[in-house]
Amino acid sequence: MFGQIRRKAPGNSGVPSAAMPAHSDAEPGASPRTPGTLAPAIETRELAKRYGAITALAGLTLTVGRGEVFGFLGPNGAGKTTAVKLLLGLARPSGGQGRVLGAPLGDRTVRRRIGYLPELFRYQPWLRAREVLRLHCELAGLPRSAWPGEVAGGLRLVGLADRGEHLVGTFSKGMQQRLGLGVALLGSPDLVVLDEPTSALDPVGRSDVRRIVREVRERGTTVFLNSHLLTEVERLCDRVAIVDHGRVVAAGAPGELAADGAVRVRTDGLDAALVARLALDFGELRLDGEWLTAALEPARVPDLVAALVAAGARVHVVEPGRSTLEDVFLRVVSGGSAGGGAGGEAGVPA
Ligand code: ATP
Repeated sequence: MFGQIRRKAPGNSGVPSAAMPAHSDAEPGASPRTPGTLAPAIETRELAKRYGAITALAGLTLTVGRGEVFGFLGPNGAGKTTAVKLLLGLARPSGGQGRVLGAPLGDRTVRRRIGYLPELFRYQPWLRAREVLRLHCELAGLPRSAWPGEVAGGLRLVGLADRGEHLVGTFSKGMQQRLGLGVALLGSPDLVVLDEPTSALDPVGRSDVRRIVREVRERGTTVFLNSHLLTEVERLCDRVAIVDHGRVVAAGAPGELAADGAVRVRTDGLDAALVARLALDFGELRLDGEWLTAALEPARVPDLVAALVAAGARVHVVEPGRSTLEDVFLRVVSGGSAGGGAGGEAGVPA
């Protein structure tokens, strides 16, 4: 039973958090609805997990602000699931510190305010969708009077309103994933952790999930999203952190990370000798057919254009040399130099 961490795991007190600031909403029952005035949704410092000789998470430092949709990315084995387990209190850290919704990791009260969609889950095939949601209302400790509204609202939100009476065993993978999302969102949690929420979905389903996540964000809910589908992440997330070997290697808004400072110019009249001469002034230049790519400060772009024209070339197009999030990912996880924001803390922008 899967969808909501708040119902099931035994508590643990987590690591001591003395060095991390305590925040006002750590107390049970505090209102979490005003982004910016409360503790960050998630804060970790050098959070680590070892299993014997294996280091599953080396030292995760990140901050996720309230109301953000935050993408948590990394290659297989980078430590993402381990980090999620620590954040949810399902595993105990071996080192470092962390707070979720202002409380130490594993805090049982806070757990009630977290919704969780695990990656590999199976609901009981003999239950109807409506029964799964009802069961999770009960496990979440929601007041009985709220169950009908929660169940109907959940089914509607995830596009299963006409499937409530159907057995889960007859559901496609995508429908099960939608149901899992509905379960994770029961009771309007303050933080929702979604592990690969779109992996089984067709393009329509993915677009639905994007709509649902945006809707959830409108309510002020923080979404922590783990996905290998980088184009989805790029479209959905306010900020991302890329982890590799258990550490953050790049962090920032997808657009910031992907804007690598390059400029592309479509020209004619250039040859290798001319490019080599211009490179003395403008640093590394790459000519690929008609396209010249340079890594330049924005203020130097007019100088480059003027130099090209002065050298006899004609300039047709000047545009930002934008990478995709996938380009950034491949660069930072393969040991190359990190893109913008790399290597630092995944902090909340000031
Ligand atoms: P994926 O994208 O494949 O799901 P991940 O980033 O979620 O990968 P984790 O599952 O957190 O990676 O695993 C990180 C490392 O820790 C891996 O080398 C894994 O083998 C190891 N690991 C995770 N859990 C355990 C465990 N219970 N015992 C031993 N090693 C573990």
